[in-house]
Amino acid sequence: MSLLRILGQDQPRRIIQNALENNSVSHAYLFYGPESIGKKLTAIEFAKALNCVVSGPVDNCGECPSCRKIDQAIHPDFFLLEPKKSSPAGRNAIINVDEIRELQKKLAYLPYEAKTKVAILDGAETMNPQAANTLLKTLEEPPSSTILILISSSPYQLLPTIISRCQGVKFHLLSTDAVRQILQQSTFAETDGFSEKEMDLRTLRSRGRISRALEEDIEATRHYREEILKLLEQASFKRMDLIFNWTRQWAKKSDGVQSVLDEMLHLLRDLAVIKCQGKNTEILNRDILDRLKPLAAQKSTKTLIAMFDSALKTKSALTANANLQLSLDHMLIQFCEAA
Ligand SMILES: [Zn+2]
Repeated sequence: MSLLRILGQDQPRRIIQNALENNSVSHAYLFYGPESIGKKLTAIEFAKALNCVVSGPVDNCGECPSCRKIDQAIHPDFFLLEPKKSSPAGRNAIINVDEIRELQKKLAYLPYEAKTKVAILDGAETMNPQAANTLLKTLEEPPSSTILILISSSPYQLLPTIISRCQGVKFHLLSTDAVRQILQQSTFAETDGFSEKEMDLRTLRSRGRISRALEEDIEATRHYREEILKLLEQASFKRMDLIFNWTRQWAKKSDGVQSVLDEMLHLLRDLAVIKCQGKNTEILNRDILDRLKPLAAQKSTKTLIAMFDSALKTKSALTANANLQLSLDHMLIQFCEAA
């Protein structure tokens, strides 16, 4: 293994490789971008390269004692902080000031066995103000032989003074090819059970995130995607019975409604792409293209846009706690009007 293990994030990988090769590694980095696209993996591979006794400091071997200890998070000079809940019933997980102070104490000593100490703060935006201000002191006067890597999917929540002291490295959503490659090469136990067809579907639907590709309940997705398609096919004032059955059913399970509306929006988007003769590669649900084409032919572009608009407004109203059943009813009546 090596830095080449970082798939689909060529730009961040090149920035790190250049810094290692030119001996110009910064004291502090901010890895930012959406969740589940490889920021933490990259930070760990970076830490391994800095300390690898075989291939370091330009790359890592993944096999030497240092690489192994970092992989297992038992290296005495490697620290990984992640947000924790203050109690099992607590609402939000945070990185608190005590953890930052503890880290500062550990960073004050010379490395035990590493060339460079590495501290990774995953979910850095969850530091409360006290923790962030305490960390700021470390960023202002960085200890020698130490590198801090802050990771955040919401960097705008960090103090500007923290951001300005870190070298920013932007991570992008993964391409479909990269997701597939990662699933094929991954050591995740789940991927063993995936057939080629399922792997295709998961890759297509991942929208660039590995967690989504791995964790999606494909059977449930197939089921409610089919339900939505029937609803889109049949939405009309003559079939109000179907419509009200559907809303009654979903009004009972408020938890999954946002996912169903997302699904609906993606299907409507795909229908509009087909309508406009877009490329097949732009269609997210292209595994059911045969099912989508006749439906796209049945609807006008204006109808599809009106439906999309209505579903989007419903999704945002539900985020603001609107009445679930009334909102869904209202959306489907608008579908009937548009049809
Ligand atoms: Zn190594």
